[in-house]
Amino acid sequence: MPPSPVTRFAPSPSGYLHLGHAYSALLNHDHARENGGAFRLRIEDIDAGRCRPEFEEAVLEDLAWLGIEPDGEVVRQSGRLPIYEKAIEHLRTSGLLYRCFRTRSELNEMLRAPHGAPPAGLSPGPHDEAEEARLLEEDRPFAWRLSVERAREIISRGTVTAFVDGEEAAVTFTGEQDPIIARKDFPASYHLACVIDDAHQGVDLVWRGEDLRASLPVQLLLHELLRLPIPSYRHHKLILGPDGKRLAKRDRAATLRSWRREGHAPEALRRRLGLGPPRC
Ligand code: GLU
Repeated sequence: MPPSPVTRFAPSPSGYLHLGHAYSALLNHDHARENGGAFRLRIEDIDAGRCRPEFEEAVLEDLAWLGIEPDGEVVRQSGRLPIYEKAIEHLRTSGLLYRCFRTRSELNEMLRAPHGAPPAGLSPGPHDEAEEARLLEEDRPFAWRLSVERAREIISRGTVTAFVDGEEAAVTFTGEQDPIIARKDFPASYHLACVIDDAHQGVDLVWRGEDLRASLPVQLLLHELLRLPIPSYRHHKLILGPDGKRLAKRDRAATLRSWRREGHAPEALRRRLGLGPPRC
């Protein structure tokens, strides 16, 4: 029998981890340990422009200091690009993706225009064939977008059932724009890589911050379209700074690194986060 629950922590190494990350990592780690499950680590480093090896090193060091040791191999998304490409190819050949060459300002313009959404589906919708051929010919950059309209034809009403925050929920994508799945210069979107890797790592509980709640509908659509097992989802509170705002990677004082350098012990950090001592 595979272990359960299998939880995970999936940071992007684009800065130092802060107290909010520590909270998420500790919740997931403790939950797995206390219930005889497994805890996985994944480095979400496909955004080569923002991620840096020194931040990845710092992630591993900070987690070790917290007493967190991942089970199994640490997955690095930058090493898995061919797998994401294969999934994109599959979605593309199933008619679920279309090329979008529009710039941000063109998209804003479309959204502002009355009756901006094309009649058939969500904004911005595919280009017409001749225009697409011309833009390809001009070698203009494009993104692949998921046609939610087409997804709705495959998945009844586009609604996916999942266990969310302790209850069975029917989740429907209600965004106004078809989500981006890949860009020409950027091999896979966060959503695509995330669902593929949650399945790859056998994650059966995704427990992450409230700020990621909005990612759920598109991720569930992708799970279903790629026929990947659907984990349960939970959302935890965000850790706020003294100003009452959520912490960001730029808040130096709140990084685990500065917390450590000031000589605090991991137990003090657990108390600051409202977590008791580890039970296992
Ligand atoms: N890499 C994402 C982040 O650091 C986490 C995504 C997730 O937990 O699904 O915000």
